[in-house]
Amino acid sequence: MKIIVVGATHAGTFATQQILTAHPDYEVTVYERNDTLSFLSCGIALWVGGHVSDPNKMFYSSPEALTALGATMAMQHEVTSIDAATRTVSVTDLVSGEQTLDHYDKLVFTPGSAPIVPPLPGIKSLNLYLCKNWGDAKRLEAKTADIRSVIVIGAGYIGAELAEQYALAGKDVTLIDALPRVLAKNFDQNITDRVEDLYRAHGTKLALGEKVVAFADDESGITVTTDKGSYAADIAILAIGFRPATTLLKGQVDMLPNGAILTDDYMRTSRPEIFVAGDSAAVHYNPTGKADYIPLATNAVRQGILVGANIEVATEKYLGTQATSAVELFDHCIAASGLTQEGAKARGVAAATVDIEQPYRPEFMTSTTNVLASLTYDPATRRVLGGAFYSQHDVSMSANVISMAIQTQMTIDQLAMVDFFFQPNFDQPLSWISAVAMAAKARADEA
Ligand SMILES: Cc1cc2nc3c(=O)[nH]c(=O)nc-3n(C[C@H](O)[C@H](O)[C@H](O)COP(=O)(O)OP(=O)(O)OC[C@H]3O[C@@H](n4cnc5c(N)ncnc54)[C@H](O)[C@@H]3O)c2cc1C
Repeated sequence: MKIIVVGATHAGTFATQQILTAHPDYEVTVYERNDTLSFLSCGIALWVGGHVSDPNKMFYSSPEALTALGATMAMQHEVTSIDAATRTVSVTDLVSGEQTLDHYDKLVFTPGSAPIVPPLPGIKSLNLYLCKNWGDAKRLEAKTADIRSVIVIGAGYIGAELAEQYALAGKDVTLIDALPRVLAKNFDQNITDRVEDLYRAHGTKLALGEKVVAFADDESGITVTTDKGSYAADIAILAIGFRPATTLLKGQVDMLPNGAILTDDYMRTSRPEIFVAGDSAAVHYNPTGKADYIPLATNAVRQGILVGANIEVATEKYLGTQATSAVELFDHCIAASGLTQEGAKARGVAAATVDIEQPYRPEFMTSTTNVLASLTYDPATRRVLGGAFYSQHDVSMSANVISMAIQTQMTIDQLAMVDFFFQPNFDQPLSWISAVAMAAKARADEA
């Protein structure tokens, strides 16, 4: 069996590992346009902020490790076209320029995503940076010591983390987003108001509800113009999202309107000999039961593993995702799984949300701090649809609990009665998850 893998960061690396572990007799060729693989881009902001012990540890695999498993590694090779009808790929060696053709029995398509770069005036500015891969990471890290000011465009997780690290490093930071709140797609206003206060308390200028319209280099750096104002800094970083890098298969397999490739439960596309995983793929979003685009390393890793499990025979089903995530900003833990109230509204899902706030452990302890917890549920079925948490205490694992509740289709009534432990070092007799579920139950009973 001849397998071609296109792209190897997370999805491609995990798929290759799984395929060759289960089928050491398979012939697997991996084409990757970079000279490294498995880069953990989640470490970029931490590296820029000086929290990475050794940047080489931001890679968990290597071309040598996959070669040792039996793969033929074609690093610095770009796949430039795919003809699904003849199962042929065209490849360019990025070092020599040589062009070749290769054939597959099955294709593992894992070229991930590309940063969204809108065609605005000045977009080619030398002082405008991206934040996606190892090359971007090296460029940003090398620049950090020299800059006194930075504009971060995009207040999603990536921009939020970069802005935080630059603020903590004493830089003059401006965070711009077209949406009116930071982390607007991840959290409701009860939490984002508090996060915005943290930025302001650390001197970060927030330019929210402002759309960038142009960039211009000047002798001291870059000016970013929005529809409401103009901001100058030494550098700017564009972090406004990603789109699936799927043009090579356009018109050849079924896709969502944004280009994310649809799969069945076994990671097969509408052409069953082509598998897709990671940021190129749509996910099954359990809170809505629909296909959605949620580019996360967690999805890429799990889907890559499933490609390996299903490459010969369809055996292991994909369970879908809740988009469970967490971020630490200014010593606060902010974590979520599933739908927020606003996310539900945007997707046309009927949902109710309750909030509670309580000390995470009893006040007789010499120290404690509050947890703000939100639970979103379907008022008709009482099923849990989402949950979000904010605290100076590490409440990140609460998002994983909510993830399991959504995945197993628990109701708020069941979640309220789950056997969670109590011990005063860790929580209250009624833990914050039980408490928010009980508040939801009380609200649902009133309605
Ligand atoms: C700054 C940052 C922080 C993040 N933090 C988190 C986090 O904390 N948690 C989380 O879950 N997710 C996080 N993510 C998202 C996560 O990194 C992505 O979801 C993940 O990288 C997707 O993996 P992938 O293998 O599908 O695709 P990609 O990472 O996009 O990798 C695709 C690979 O394919 C190669 N390729 C593309 N086209 C071709 C071609 N034509 N020929 C050959 N090779 C090709 C590329 O060079 C690349 O190596 C973060 C992302 C960024 C950018």
